[in-house]
Amino acid sequence: MLPFNKPCIAGNEMNYISDAIQRGKISGNGYYTEKCQSFFENKFGFNKVLLTHSCTDALEMAAILLNIVEGDEVIMSTYTYVSTANAFVLRGAKIIFADTEKYTPNIDANNLAHLITKKTKAIVVTHYGGIAVNMQVILELAAEHHLFIVEDAAAAIGAYYNGLPVGSIGHLATFSFHETKNVQCGEGGMLVINDERFIARAEIIWEKGTNRAAFSRNEVNRYEWVDIGSSFTPSELNAAFLFGQLENFDYLQSVRAKQWETYRSNLAEMTPNAFRLIKIPHYAAQNHHVFALLTTFGDARENLSKHLLESGILAVSHYQCLHKSPYFHKQYVGPELPNSIDFEQNLLRLPIYPDLKLDEIITICDRIKSFF
Ligand SMILES: *Cc1c(COP(=O)(O)O)cnc(C)c1O
Repeated sequence: MLPFNKPCIAGNEMNYISDAIQRGKISGNGYYTEKCQSFFENKFGFNKVLLTHSCTDALEMAAILLNIVEGDEVIMSTYTYVSTANAFVLRGAKIIFADTEKYTPNIDANNLAHLITKKTKAIVVTHYGGIAVNMQVILELAAEHHLFIVEDAAAAIGAYYNGLPVGSIGHLATFSFHETKNVQCGEGGMLVINDERFIARAEIIWEKGTNRAAFSRNEVNRYEWVDIGSSFTPSELNAAFLFGQLENFDYLQSVRAKQWETYRSNLAEMTPNAFRLIKIPHYAAQNHHVFALLTTFGDARENLSKHLLESGILAVSHYQCLHKSPYFHKQYVGPELPNSIDFEQNLLRLPIYPDLKLDEIITICDRIKSFF
């Protein structure tokens, strides 16, 4: 049986967990939390990083930081994970869904100016599967209309846009370390704060609305309730596990790159109309999070995934378009978003995870060839 994903142990995860216990502090914001945060700040030049329990948490922090209030409009792609929208809905925002590009599952930056109104407060871009969004156009729109940019970079760690690390471009960015992502700790995430103005308040929101972080640095002499917030700090046990992965960051990324290229080169000989691949734009250096086929006719995707399952290979679809979801569809007013629906109906993700062997990938490719 080849699962779609299998979380791996990359190195010292277990040793660091026992070390954290021996250090005598396993609640949040301790030794390993600091180590993980510094790792990302140094490696990618992020201004400030705060670890969270999940990317969902980080998105909720972003919505609080941007002071989203009832009636504010937030633009995002309909083809994204539910948390991208939910975090802003929780603050009372009205979500304005945009379509994706035709050849990538990313928001179509060239087709969203008409969605901006006086109530628009932010654009949230999801870098699908570690493939960067066309940020130049987003940056220009945001500057012209004084909008905030949040990058939902959940699956995009180590990806670049025109040489800039994904997550370093928007005012805020969010990442996930869920077990399905390139580096993981079961459940985990982080908020990246690039805009200086948000840093002090982000720390307060992170620590349940208190000034505990400043207090522990001896910057204030009382530890008090000073703002709204919640419990966003993950345990040191999770941070210790994550640090074990981060020490092997480049290795884990290189394994995926080889796997991705093995899929691509083995499928290259297939007839061009059997399926398409996601187009990787010239400005995007991807992180090989996803290898997906886009089927081009009828129920080819369902039949292909059944065919693979008969050989014990688990291939899976991806997002439901949020504007068509049971929660949202009744409030959605707007045009059909046909490119997104195409990805919802035809995108099939193949197994990719560090322990997957290259000859297993060749077997998967053979099964795909036998189907077509
Ligand atoms: C995985 C993912 C999330 C959710 O991440 P969690 O850490 O599970 O909260 C959010 N957005 C996108 C685009 C994702 O891929």
